[in-house]
Amino acid sequence: MAESVERLQQRVQELERELAQERSRRVLGGGDGAGGRRIEKMSPEVDSNPKNRLMALKRMGIVSDYEKIRTFAVAIVGVGGVGSVTAEMLTRCGIGKLLLFDYDKVELANMNRLFFQPHQAGLSKVQAAEHTLRNINPDVLFEVHNYNITTVENFQHFMDRISNGGLEEGKPVDLVLSCVDNFEARMTINTACNELGQTWMESGVSENAVSGHIQLIIPGESACFACAPPLVVAANIDEKTLKREGVCAASLPTTMGVVAGILVQNVLKFLLKFGTVSFYLGYNAMQDFFPTMSMKPNPQCDDRNCRKQQEEYKRKEAALPKQDVIQEEEEIIHEDNEWARRCCTC
Ligand SMILES: [Zn+2]
Repeated sequence: MAESVERLQQRVQELERELAQERSRRVLGGGDGAGGRRIEKMSPEVDSNPKNRLMALKRMGIVSDYEKIRTFAVAIVGVGGVGSVTAEMLTRCGIGKLLLFDYDKVELANMNRLFFQPHQAGLSKVQAAEHTLRNINPDVLFEVHNYNITTVENFQHFMDRISNGGLEEGKPVDLVLSCVDNFEARMTINTACNELGQTWMESGVSENAVSGHIQLIIPGESACFACAPPLVVAANIDEKTLKREGVCAASLPTTMGVVAGILVQNVLKFLLKFGTVSFYLGYNAMQDFFPTMSMKPNPQCDDRNCRKQQEEYKRKEAALPKQDVIQEEEEIIHEDNEWARRCCTC
């Protein structure tokens, strides 16, 4: 009796191993296993479609056309604690294309964060992320760049991919997300986006790991990163939110997860036009305080392209017939409420 139980246990173990091997073969091969299956069409009707729960947003009246998510391209600069989780969320949401920029390698010292796994240590972050994300959702297009965007030649290439790396080659991306951890890289993204008139969102987590923020920047319309160093002071956020190179910072997967979550939530609202898109949303974990605000651009901004974008925005606003402006605002408030809460705190 005891012998046959042991034999059965061995057999169960063998079968489990075979099953695991078969499953991983299917996923890696992008075959017909559940993990690697491609979805031809998003449908709110089919139960076996893993996107069904996303499509239910449409049925419930939250989003008017969820399937549109597949038409957008988003660039993520920095694939660390916030950027990697942001990329995973957008991949699972079914974004059309992701462009990832980072020059770091996966390190065992960062395993207190989410997404990367110990066996990926030593690989470039963008390469490891692409492999994982492709397995999660093979419908997403990926373009990865393993370089530092702040050097002169890489900056030109970065600008070129932002302008031409959209879902359709030659068209700009729909949104740039800054998930970097230093001031220089933020200023580089700011410079590029001001020059291109490219909308972007900035994110950050403080060095002490207990606060963070996200910020939407529409060149000419809202304060750019160079316009508003006082933003940090005004929001009463620790200045250390803006990390300095070479400083050994604390990090918590919780804070990074929260910041990635509010960032992607803002991205979804912005792209799919639902709810109120935040221009600035802070997170203070010590008090569970979420400050929001928005700021107009600074007419004396140091960035000449920011000033140019401001002039262009003013010209466009002035060209709108007055009545149309009122109608549009009413429409926005009730329907696709994007900028309606654009208050002025300056
Ligand atoms: Zn500015």
